[in-house]
Amino acid sequence: MLDRIFIYDAPDAAGLDIGVVARRLDELLPDTEVETRTDFFTWRLGQFEPGQVAVLTEQIAERLDEREVHDLVAPERRSDLEPVTPDDRDLGAVYLAEPLQDVLRAMLPAEERGVANLHLAYITQCIGRWVAEESYFRLQIIRHGEPTIISTTGFVEAPALPREYAFRRAQLVGFGMEEAAEELDARFAGKALGHADARINRVATGFALKAVFRQAFAEDGCDEPTCPLHPTATHDELARAYLDDDSRLCDRHARMLTDAGRDAPEPS
Ligand SMILES: [Zn+2]
Repeated sequence: MLDRIFIYDAPDAAGLDIGVVARRLDELLPDTEVETRTDFFTWRLGQFEPGQVAVLTEQIAERLDEREVHDLVAPERRSDLEPVTPDDRDLGAVYLAEPLQDVLRAMLPAEERGVANLHLAYITQCIGRWVAEESYFRLQIIRHGEPTIISTTGFVEAPALPREYAFRRAQLVGFGMEEAAEELDARFAGKALGHADARINRVATGFALKAVFRQAFAEDGCDEPTCPLHPTATHDELARAYLDDDSRLCDRHARMLTDAGRDAPEPS
């Protein structure tokens, strides 16, 4: 079971309150210590002398820079497709998830490493990976591991739009019916999660649970569409798993937590 969970803030994420996430994890995992921290870099640099911080900051900036993606078109398609920058899609900074995680992992102190500790680093930057045969960079919300990285911009940008919506929208824009397209956006926005959406903490907690179950029970995914462990590749799936009235841990996964609590050694 997990001894400690450390949650790092993404202060620029509108509406994100990691205290909400921490309280929920605390309720569900009474035997696990849950701690909230400032954002990952600020917290980690805070452990050093002021003189060292400037040097470290520069080193980190350099290493991050090497991991940033500036053209979302797959390298092997760049000769026949127009470049698409993260700015074109209003994404902010975009990083390769795995090398970014390597940079963050190197900053974790030895005494907080290992499977009994779970680090949840929320960030506003986007993360993703290149997928063979795909023409464009694939955004992702979560990168499991040490630390687990959760991109709040990814909540909105990574899941696929409902097929019908994307199709209808392209049609309307194609016919120059911008106003109708905007109306469609508004109707869609009522259902799907958007930027600066008050429901962000429900989604943030859902992804934290995915990370907890993966690390504590090696559980990845669930067949119940209303369970937070259900895969969320589309906006519909994300809404079903986290935002609907009946979105909650399924019986099987809820039981795993209660059973783990019962088996935990009594504090002496
Ligand atoms: Zn489940």
